[in-house]
Amino acid sequence: MEKGVALVFLGAPGAGKGTVIGFVSQKFPLAQVSTGDLIRAKIKADHRFREQVEGLMNQGKLVGDDIVEGLLREALAKIPAEKGLALDGYPRTPVQAESLEKILPEFKRSLKKVIYLNVSEKTVLQRLGGRRQCRNCNAIYNVIGMKPKREGVCDKCGGILFTREDDKPEVIKKRLKEYREKTSSLIEFYKAKGLLFEVDANKEATDSAKAIFKELGVQ
Ligand code: AMP
Repeated sequence: MEKGVALVFLGAPGAGKGTVIGFVSQKFPLAQVSTGDLIRAKIKADHRFREQVEGLMNQGKLVGDDIVEGLLREALAKIPAEKGLALDGYPRTPVQAESLEKILPEFKRSLKKVIYLNVSEKTVLQRLGGRRQCRNCNAIYNVIGMKPKREGVCDKCGGILFTREDDKPEVIKKRLKEYREKTSSLIEFYKAKGLLFEVDANKEATDSAKAIFKELGVQ
């Protein structure tokens, strides 16, 4: 894939954005930028930030547009210019989608495609209920489908796996509501721009990755 591209991965919580990006980036030199991971890292490092946003996050609500944009810009500034970008969890509101149109050219990237991972609510509830994440490298596992070799331990770095506070059933419902109310309109927004590529993401992440490779013209 050519230099200077950005792909946006759009989809409900549990659509498998992070996992699919993991597969796609094995074929392309893509840097994965997950705003959720950026927020969690900042929460660990900065207790004032933690007081400001952790409550919202644990209630399944979105964090303010300005805060997330600031973190995104900081992260993009550290990524070498020759790397493509895979945006995971950004944009999530119309305001963020508008901001992204300014941010990408500033970082010498252009939006090539928006990959919309379409999942049913049933799939989301199954996936998020079993999700475990590495505290150290953020790798994602699932106690049903994608188990680590040793229970509770990351295959990649040996870090401890944990269940996110916002993956509890009552919070998942609220996150889905936020998604429907604030994020889902972006599907039409990008469709109108001719950038949307929809994938049925109820199957395995490798199937989604295959469909994406085909769309991007790779075997
Ligand atoms: P994720 O890891 O993508 O599921 O994100 C976890 C949580 O971080 C979300 O439920 C929001 O509270 C917050 N978050 C992540 N990305 C964004 C964003 N682009 N805008 C607002 N809040 C976000």
